[in-house]
Amino acid sequence: MTLPLPPRAREIQARVRAFVDAELIPWEVHAEMHDGLVPEDVWKRMKAKAKEAGLDNMDMPVAIGGRGYSTLEQVVAQEQTGRVTNALGWCANNPQKWMLEACSPAQIERWIKPLMNDERHECYAITEAEAGSDVDAIKSTARRVSGGDGDHYVLNGEKWHVTSANLADYMFFQAKIEGGPNAGAHALFFVDHGTPGVEIVRTPAYTHNYRAHHPIYRFTDVRVPADHLIGKEGDGMGFTYAWFRHERLMIAARCCGAAERLIDEATAFAKQRIVFGAALAEQQAVQFMLADSVTELFAARLMTYETARAIDSGADMKTAHAQCSMAKLYASEMAGRVADRAVQIFGGRGYMRENVAERFFRELRVDRIWEGASEIQRIIIANGLLKRGTQSLVG
Ligand SMILES: Cc1cc2nc3c(=O)[nH]c(=O)nc-3n(C[C@H](O)[C@H](O)[C@H](O)COP(=O)(O)OP(=O)(O)OC[C@H]3O[C@@H](n4cnc5c(N)ncnc54)[C@H](O)[C@@H]3O)c2cc1C
Repeated sequence: MTLPLPPRAREIQARVRAFVDAELIPWEVHAEMHDGLVPEDVWKRMKAKAKEAGLDNMDMPVAIGGRGYSTLEQVVAQEQTGRVTNALGWCANNPQKWMLEACSPAQIERWIKPLMNDERHECYAITEAEAGSDVDAIKSTARRVSGGDGDHYVLNGEKWHVTSANLADYMFFQAKIEGGPNAGAHALFFVDHGTPGVEIVRTPAYTHNYRAHHPIYRFTDVRVPADHLIGKEGDGMGFTYAWFRHERLMIAARCCGAAERLIDEATAFAKQRIVFGAALAEQQAVQFMLADSVTELFAARLMTYETARAIDSGADMKTAHAQCSMAKLYASEMAGRVADRAVQIFGGRGYMRENVAERFFRELRVDRIWEGASEIQRIIIANGLLKRGTQSLVG
């Protein structure tokens, strides 16, 4: 690791790396063969050790019991969790800072602090069958009603790909306001699992084997008290953008970690695998694949770290938004190419589920789709370029 990092970031990086190597990587093949699961006592230990390694509440201020990490410190930690497959790195709760600005004190007590303490777990219900990239096209509705048992919203809609819903006990639900002066405005609500009218339509199988499932949910006349509204009517998209911005940068970081692991493993294999009487690593065609991979990783890591540093130094929000998109776009596409080359270097072994390259080849694919597909990142970047010019994007 030659990139200059402040001492605390370097220390976090080393601590999380040691945790990932000792506690997570040894269990990934087991998880792959058991629907993404490890034995419950092992999962509990992973969670406890993740806490010891300082992997939880990284974005939350110290004043409220969080770690208070800078964006750069979060990036180096997330990069290390990206080195493991089967989402075993998702063993720590990491609520985001914007939640403290968005939520009322009562909401923080009821939904955010328990999330920090690992007593409650959340999921995000935004995407719909006909609204993924185009979030503004959502058809879910929230209608305010008063009287009888008090002030309520009635929620209706269907939500797709609700990640971790099987592990969660409440949702962030995005809808458009129906009727009233804010009709059509986006709004975000807390919806507890088990609220009457919330039902699972089905739980489809996905490409990866994760403990977290992604069910489709239907909401039929779901009544939630008016104080389940987060912020004001019309704030919904702003919160979702804040979530996207942060998460896109963390995806970029995890993709860098995945690429590093793939390059390490493919290089080690190529050095010991003998073909035609010589080490595979001596073949220039293989060297070129490894050279391209490590060069692209270097570029992706620089972009990701630099974007984090810029955010920590108070970068303009629009610039930060576009740079997070650039980091996610480049790092996720880079990691996909690196995984493809790693499978090729491993040959037939690279097609076996017990092989890290096979797992990453499947798992990394979604990083070009979720939190805004590559095409959407390109649209965001192009918009920034057209409106504010090259300098605003690359400094
Ligand atoms: C495993 C998984 C987990 C997920 N978890 C969650 C979750 O927890 N909560 C949640 O709300 N959502 C979640 N999602 C949804 C995810 O955010 C969406 O799948 C993603 O935003 C893309 O939307 P879509 O699938 O509807 O594709 P579409 O919007 O239909 O797009 C299809 C393709 O067309 C491209 N495209 C769209 N518009 C344009 C354009 N203008 N120009 C060029 N190309 C375009 C897209 O890039 C994509 O390649 C998850 C998805 C997956 C696969």
